[in-house]
Amino acid sequence: MATDWNALAAPGVRKLTAYDPGHDPGTLKRQLGLTELTELGSNENSFGPSPAVFRALQAPLGELYRYPDAGARGLKSALARRYGLEDRQFVIGNGSHELLVLLAETLVAPGEEVVFPQYGFAVFKIAATQCGGTPVEVPATADRGADPDAMIAAFGPRTRLVYLANPNNPTGTHWDAATLQRVLAALPPQAIFVLDEAYAEYADPAVVADGLALLPSHPRLVVTRTFSKAYGLAGLRLGYAVADPGLCQLLERTRLSFNGNLLALAAGEAALGDQAWVAQVRDQTRASRDYLLLGLQALKLDARASQGNFVLVDFHRPAAPIEAALMARAVLVRPMGAYGLPTCSRITAGTLREIDALLDALAAVLDGQ
Ligand SMILES: *Cc1c(COP(=O)(O)O)cnc(C)c1O
Repeated sequence: MATDWNALAAPGVRKLTAYDPGHDPGTLKRQLGLTELTELGSNENSFGPSPAVFRALQAPLGELYRYPDAGARGLKSALARRYGLEDRQFVIGNGSHELLVLLAETLVAPGEEVVFPQYGFAVFKIAATQCGGTPVEVPATADRGADPDAMIAAFGPRTRLVYLANPNNPTGTHWDAATLQRVLAALPPQAIFVLDEAYAEYADPAVVADGLALLPSHPRLVVTRTFSKAYGLAGLRLGYAVADPGLCQLLERTRLSFNGNLLALAAGEAALGDQAWVAQVRDQTRASRDYLLLGLQALKLDARASQGNFVLVDFHRPAAPIEAALMARAVLVRPMGAYGLPTCSRITAGTLREIDALLDALAAVLDGQ
């Protein structure tokens, strides 16, 4: 008899589906026989990392047979200096995805509730389910943003963890500081608030809350950030959590040893040291994002302003045929069916050249359908 593997999984895992990473560009190129692909499906940074990163990778390349520094001391000190915090307020992750899951594994017991908004980042539900927690998905506002009042109403004695991405992927929506503070003030005493700031470097600080500024007054707030987006190091897998030293100690108990690899730690420290590069990436990305938004609106499409390095467009009809036609023209965007948004696609604000390729292809596709 065939083994029923699902029955052998832990209860939380039985209900789980694996994270959907979108299309794999390498496979697609081979399937479609393409030499070039405009990859705007994964919110990567088309401008790449600082040149300082490549110089910093030379020395550790000669040390690959050694384990990395398990305490990631160099990177933690650099982060602490940059943000005016203490080294012991940082935990390093193999991407921030790992830290989002680690927080649930470390804090949530079976049956406890994990609150997150509808259209929130897909990892939140996976993390909650995997550890046997009860996911509580809170309906969004009419513009698909996280609804602060509905979030507060969902808080209760069983709430252990709350997730919010700010700005949020895939909607591009955000909360300002006053909204975040209002919700934090309503947080039940046994709950911890995880603020996923993967896109913080792209956001306008005048309108988007800064989680790090709120840390001193909110000990049960955790901020996660990443080197995958504005720092251009998605391939190396490096992220960090910033929290109260007590919570960091809990996470140090549960994280895998050496989860920040030798190359990633060196690259992260070098990337952090070149803030002029990050500022340039931010400015170019914002220009591309505005150009993309205007281009989509010029095609009479429903696309809204975003605080990330991407724009969500709603075709108000199934997006799959449009996405397939774009793919046939070697342009890749992210399908949104898994988010319950089958009429939408998410498009990365890459270089102006990439946006031109997307807009040209999209105009031709819409013309032909
Ligand atoms: C891209 C992204 C991350 C970053 O993931 P990494 O594991 O650090 O690459 C985290 N949260 C959101 C909302 C994202 O879009």
